[in-house]
Amino acid sequence: MTDVTTADLRAWITRFASLIDEHQTELTELDSAIGDADHGSNMARGMHAVLPKLDGAATPADLGKAIGMTLVSTVGGASGPLYGTFFLRLGGAAGAEDALDAATLGAALRAGVEGVVQRGKAEPGDKTMIDAFTPALQAWDDAVAGGADAVSAAEAAATAAAAGRDATVPLVARKGRASYLGERSAGHLDPGAASATLLLEALRDTLAA
Ligand code: ADP
Ligand code: MG
Ligand code: MG
Repeated sequence: MTDVTTADLRAWITRFASLIDEHQTELTELDSAIGDADHGSNMARGMHAVLPKLDGAATPADLGKAIGMTLVSTVGGASGPLYGTFFLRLGGAAGAEDALDAATLGAALRAGVEGVVQRGKAEPGDKTMIDAFTPALQAWDDAVAGGADAVSAAEAAATAAAAGRDATVPLVARKGRASYLGERSAGHLDPGAASATLLLEALRDTLAA
């Protein structure tokens, strides 16, 4: 497989916006159980604002900045600054490179997630998007260490993200609004872990296409 280009990154984000639309109701229902019932609408509003900005960005760094700043300014709530930071850092790490190999893209994804951790201070097991992102990064790196290209790495990362998402069900939330519920947050899937899984599934779908 050839390297991942800026055009591929644009297609990834376009696919993510479609998946958010498809799953908007479900994301909001998840958030109604342990939050304030707006995660689907927050993400849909943000991604609709992002779409018209994609074509104007020439490099991964420009793209990450355009996506990140748009999400920060249009998504009210915790997820806006967190996803915003993810894309700003991812783009910053990828720089002006128009041909990202699997290892470079993995490092850029890791930089994005590290930004989310710095900003939100969540650890694995806190019942947040980090519970989907962390196993996804591990799976990506393991795949690359085994000689995988970006297509296979993205496939492995999406599968691991979904497992991490599902494993949030029994957890007690320690970050964000869901943490206000204490023990009552257990028994529900975390909405941000669900949207983060869609982000990895969008990358898998795009690279496999
Ligand atoms: P809000 O909770 O402000 O309404 P959203 O509903 O859009 O924002 O997003 C909620 C999601 O954000 C949660 O399901 C969780 O995954 C994620 N989240 C909240 N706080 C944090 C944090 N500190 N670190 C990482 N993720 C977080
Ligand atoms: Mg919410
Ligand atoms: Mg809210």
